[in-house]
Amino acid sequence: LAGVRRGWSIAGMIDIQSLFSLEGRVALVTGASGGLGAHFARVLHGAGARIVLAARRIDALAALAGELGGRAATVPLNVTEGEAVAQAFIAAEAAFGAPCDIIVNNAGIAVTKPVLQQSEADWDSVLDVNLRGCFLVAAEGARRLVAAKTPGSIINIASIGGLRILSGVAGYTASKAGLVQLTKQLAVELARHDIRVNALCPGYIETPINREFFASEAGQAVIRRVPQRRLGQPGDLSGALLLLASAAGAHMTGATLVVDG
Ligand code: NAD
Repeated sequence: LAGVRRGWSIAGMIDIQSLFSLEGRVALVTGASGGLGAHFARVLHGAGARIVLAARRIDALAALAGELGGRAATVPLNVTEGEAVAQAFIAAEAAFGAPCDIIVNNAGIAVTKPVLQQSEADWDSVLDVNLRGCFLVAAEGARRLVAAKTPGSIINIASIGGLRILSGVAGYTASKAGLVQLTKQLAVELARHDIRVNALCPGYIETPINREFFASEAGQAVIRRVPQRRLGQPGDLSGALLLLASAAGAHMTGATLVVDG
């Protein structure tokens, strides 16, 4: 029966649709108001999940919530505040009457300055959101799943910056490297509770926030160093996200999945 639930029919034929289906699941996406977060929410919703859109400003989520319709709820969430994280999960569970069994740690920031000019505040702000925030969200989400005896999938949006060096973003690369390591730690500790934890590491993906940079000469030079000679689009991450969220990735945990062209 477990096999059937995971998308394998009794005869051994693969039921592709149920393998990737997220029907009955509840997905919380942090930083969902724009960029990749909004895209991730659309993908998970398209696969059948109920979606909890989380962001600091709830008014910024109204348009996306309206677009997604009935299977979407919004919660205010600053990932750096432990109490706000707990309240967001309480509100999410109240909205759909079930724990969030897909958690996408998407909220992230960067401060771009040479390391000699980075201040203590620059460093702290990046580490606070990208590493401490992801820990707070993952740990609170996992606690609630364990209490409800519900399996789940936590997807940490890291970056190729967590695996190599990108100039001018010391806090960013350090935080994303920390997030990759945190992913493995959580995966090992939470496996016994049937909670999978994986890191998705995008390369350069075009979003409103970086469009101007990639149109510039410096940005074009970066693109020329990508072997595929193009920027990724948010849609290039959809398959990897679905794999990690769904039964298709049932035996994947602690993985670092790179999507970087
Ligand atoms: P973005 O700036 O459009 O999105 C980041 C989101 O996080 C924003 O909605 C922002 O409001 C939110 N956020 C920031 N601080 C927050 C906080 N304290 N609490 C709650 N939300 C907060 O950028 P994006 O390109 O969509 O990036 C999304 C994620 O993907 C980030 O973690 C980023 O590091 C990662 N990523 C992006 C790329 C890329 O090329 N775009 C590549 C690799 C990794």
